Amino acid sequence: MAATLCILASSSKGNATAIAFDDTGRFILVDAGISPRRVREGLVRASAISPFQRLRAIFLTHLDTDHWAASWAAHLRRHPIPVIVRGEHADDAVAAGVPVGCVRVAGDEFRLGDSVIVRTVAVPHDDEGSTAYRFDGPDASIGHATDLGCVEADLVDTFTGIDLLNIESNYDEAMQRHSSRPEFLKQRIMGHQGHLSNDQCAHAVETLARGGSIAHVTLLHLSQECNTPQLAHDALARRAGSLVPSVAVAPPSTPTAPIRFSRNDSCNDSRKDSCNDAHDAHDAALLTAFSGKNGE
Ligand SMILES: [Zn+2]
Repeated sequence: MAATLCILASSSKGNATAIAFDDTGRFILVDAGISPRRVREGLVRASAISPFQRLRAIFLTHLDTDHWAASWAAHLRRHPIPVIVRGEHADDAVAAGVPVGCVRVAGDEFRLGDSVIVRTVAVPHDDEGSTAYRFDGPDASIGHATDLGCVEADLVDTFTGIDLLNIESNYDEAMQRHSSRPEFLKQRIMGHQGHLSNDQCAHAVETLARGGSIAHVTLLHLSQECNTPQLAHDALARRAGSLVPSVAVAPPSTPTAPIRFSRNDSCNDSRKDSCNDAHDAHDAALLTAFSGKNGE
């Protein structure tokens, strides 16, 4: 078995990440900031259908519109599945259109099904904060942190020992400072409750990778005005290039290649077709598959 993850969209215009913890076809989304149709199309485009047959739950980092697209409301009323939020976000979730019956309030640690342990960390972002998630599945531990103004000790503690890391690398500090944005916006973004700069992200990755466990990092949520993939990648390479074997930068609106990983498997590079049964999938499979059997 292996875990498979695919970043479907990653920017201030929409965020969604699909993760399958095994080969049963069940998967989760972290954030649903693009429509159900775009999730479906993104998985087809990534040729990533085989591990992503049946959506079992949605984990929301927070309720900003780039993380929760209102078009999911109607979809969830027809095909209800759990939508997981921290307690502080529960009212916002209902106000934003998440059906009340779907809302599940996450504690610090809980189980998803039999084989996945989920841990949540509150991270500073605007007034309501955001949520970072750690998923410990049977074959991989995955950390996902986006929309946070700084990396605090509890996030580092919680993410220690993960195999795959998805983390925001939002802006290049010089580009931000010299941008034409209004000063209040620059201060908000660069502040303690804003977003991570490339250097802050690289520092966090360096800290987390020192233990030697991280096999792959995907950089998320790059500002399209105040960052470039090259700058984000270079900042990480300078600080942690020798510690992280594999790095990808998520494009804003097209899916990454599916990353397949198993702690117990030598076939851990998604780009090796022989290791990636996702490429065997037929587009038609997804078109029927996604249409909504209930998850747990
Ligand atoms: Zn965002």
